[in-house]
Amino acid sequence: TVNANSLDAYWMPFTGNRQFKAHPRMIVGADGMYFKTSDGRDLLDGIAGLWCCSAGHNRPRIVEAIRQQVGELDYAPAFQMGHPKQFELANRLTQLIPGDLNKVFFTNSGSESVETALKMAIAYHRARGEGHRTRLIGREKGYHGVNFGGMSVGGMPANRKMFGSLVSGVDHLRHTHGIAENRFSKGLPLHGAERADDLQRLCELHDPSTIAAVIVEPLAGSAGVILPPVGYLKRLREICDQHGILLIFDEVITGFGRLGAPFAVDKFGVEPDMVTTAKALTNGVIPMGAVFVQDKIYDAFMQGPENMVEFFHGYTYSGNPMACAAALGALDTYEEEGLLTRASELSDYWQVALHSLRDLPHVIDLRNMGLIAGIELEPLPGQPTKRAFDAFLKAYEAGLLIRTTGDTIALSPPLIIEKSQIDFIFDTLTNIIKTLD
Ligand code: PMP
Repeated sequence: TVNANSLDAYWMPFTGNRQFKAHPRMIVGADGMYFKTSDGRDLLDGIAGLWCCSAGHNRPRIVEAIRQQVGELDYAPAFQMGHPKQFELANRLTQLIPGDLNKVFFTNSGSESVETALKMAIAYHRARGEGHRTRLIGREKGYHGVNFGGMSVGGMPANRKMFGSLVSGVDHLRHTHGIAENRFSKGLPLHGAERADDLQRLCELHDPSTIAAVIVEPLAGSAGVILPPVGYLKRLREICDQHGILLIFDEVITGFGRLGAPFAVDKFGVEPDMVTTAKALTNGVIPMGAVFVQDKIYDAFMQGPENMVEFFHGYTYSGNPMACAAALGALDTYEEEGLLTRASELSDYWQVALHSLRDLPHVIDLRNMGLIAGIELEPLPGQPTKRAFDAFLKAYEAGLLIRTTGDTIALSPPLIIEKSQIDFIFDTLTNIIKTLD
């Protein structure tokens, strides 16, 4: 017999299957800043779904764009055929990003954007006669998705523990906890820009002419909102330039306004050779990713004779009409409502509200930028991650959705958030943290 209400067949991603099945938390609707739960409660979305719904939920422009698209052109073959919205979207996206990042390759997720960028980096060097450049460098605590390349350059031990770095020729920069203005930290080791010189160490270890690319999240989101030291990214850029290594920013979380500027490229004033995006590209509504590349990379593939293999890579759903329509609707919403810079207008308020948690028990570190924050709790002895997960469960009961990673509470609300809702988030968390074991 098939029971539609049975929880048996579904295997939930990552962890928590057993906990969830014992205590299901079902979402059945969403609107604006809120989710609706199956028991009829509103949940303030403190994490934009999974760092993706930057304009909030069920936004009319996006809903309407999808509705119109499905009645017009539902699917177009992704290879050797085009449809107008791919070109329109690519043009609009390249106007948003500064510098030479003028070419856009579409994918269906952050993981696919990362695989695409890593393959492009190796193929780029090969196309220029530097086929020996195949080594890839990531960073400890980086998260670049779960496919083989992204998992290997990623630096979250839990994601790699059953697999290792299955892509060979991968190494990692040491973890960086940036010193920032108003930084509150009880004893975590903090780093300055010189931490980027770790790339020199890897260059000495490996021969820099074998290194294809360095990939970093400008601000590491999934590992718990980890800030780069001031000047760190600029220094990485300099070292990459010195050795002919490509620099990739993984902006799957930081892209589309999260830090208060359209991209971290603007925020930090450093231009990488490629930028990977996904999530808020469509406001999280339809899976889609995009890789922005500098002209020189595209050109390297296009210089050969006609019919030579250009870049033999792509997906059935690359740039599909439904996703392009959703992305165009999302961009309209971001631009009409000024959301790509709204996080900078609210960042002072956000920072003050976050820092009201300084003196609470268990709080050992507070990190923020734009409209993103991490609250690190001291691990409960012998039970790491329990305190933060308890906070997650209590917040859910109190009408607030947060995310936890290790012992850190992560916040990344839709950029449409109002000050009163920021107050609600931090008042709720204050009450909860006080009650934790
Ligand atoms: N890169 C970064 C920086 C991410 O934050 C994520 C997702 N959290 C990914 C890649 C992977 O994206 P996806 O889950 O869409 O494959």
